Amino acid sequence: MSNIKTVARKDGGDYVISGQKLWITNGTRADFITLAVRTGGEGFGGISLVTFPNDVTGFSVSKKIKKIGNLASDTALLYFDECRIPQRYVLGEENQGFYHIMTNFQGERLIAAIACVSGMEKMIADSIEYGNTREAFGKPILKFQVWRHKFVDHMTAIEAAKRLTYHAVDLYDRKEYCVKEISMAKLFAGDLAQKVVYDCQQFHGGFGYTTEYHIGRAFKDVRLITIGGGTSEVMKEIIGKLVGM
Ligand SMILES: Cc1cc2nc3c(=O)[nH]c(=O)nc-3n(C[C@H](O)[C@H](O)[C@H](O)COP(=O)(O)OP(=O)(O)OC[C@H]3O[C@@H](n4cnc5c(N)ncnc54)[C@H](O)[C@@H]3O)c2cc1C
Repeated sequence: MSNIKTVARKDGGDYVISGQKLWITNGTRADFITLAVRTGGEGFGGISLVTFPNDVTGFSVSKKIKKIGNLASDTALLYFDECRIPQRYVLGEENQGFYHIMTNFQGERLIAAIACVSGMEKMIADSIEYGNTREAFGKPILKFQVWRHKFVDHMTAIEAAKRLTYHAVDLYDRKEYCVKEISMAKLFAGDLAQKVVYDCQQFHGGFGYTTEYHIGRAFKDVRLITIGGGTSEVMKEIIGKLVGM
């Protein structure tokens, strides 16, 4: 993030922007982009945020990226070729963009944790409903102890994820510094969701591998949680640094 290469050169009262941006959610259809550009020197202190209208000459969507899941939103590679915008389009303070991005990340990561918790609860509820009606070897599959125990383990862990997430939400809501708690909530809920979706899909048998039930879609969508908005490994790096490791 501190290595941003898209450059905004000052020219009169304008910025002239050149570079490209990969992975931009809704990039093919946005009218405006909150764009991070390099307005100063190397590192954290040389980045600014600007409001970028997509009808500016020199802007193009190079590619709509084909994803395996989360198909309700598009993801794009964007290209900026000497795009001219007024300098008053800067958001917040010039060269303070990195800090604005880090602040914004906390909201994004918190939303990821919250979505994860509610998604896991739905996966379990759907599985219980399915397991009460689908019969194998003369009884509903939910009556097999191996599955009941597995789901109870997951529900216990989901409750722990929920409490951690609520704690982070509470701190955030009270405007307390809570980067550690938010990173932990995303890390814990995101990693847990990978295990929960795997077992819930397995429990649906052949139907788990179809689009007939929600679990097939969840299998593809949940995978993004440990990658987008900062990977699980990056969450661990952040937490490690915050506790002095
Ligand atoms: C569908 C989708 C939508 C997205 N939308 C946006 C968006 O709108 N705006 C935006 O800015 N970005 C967006 N992203 C980008 C997303 O935030 C990044 O893909 C993500 O942060 C991972 O970065 P990377 O792809 O560069 O992976 P890399 O940084 O190349 O990481 C590759 C692997 O190396 C590991 N790794 C990297 N650094 C370390 C380390 N220090 N220690 C240990 N392991 C490490 C990672 O954990 C990962 O496993 C989106 C991505 C996707 C897939």
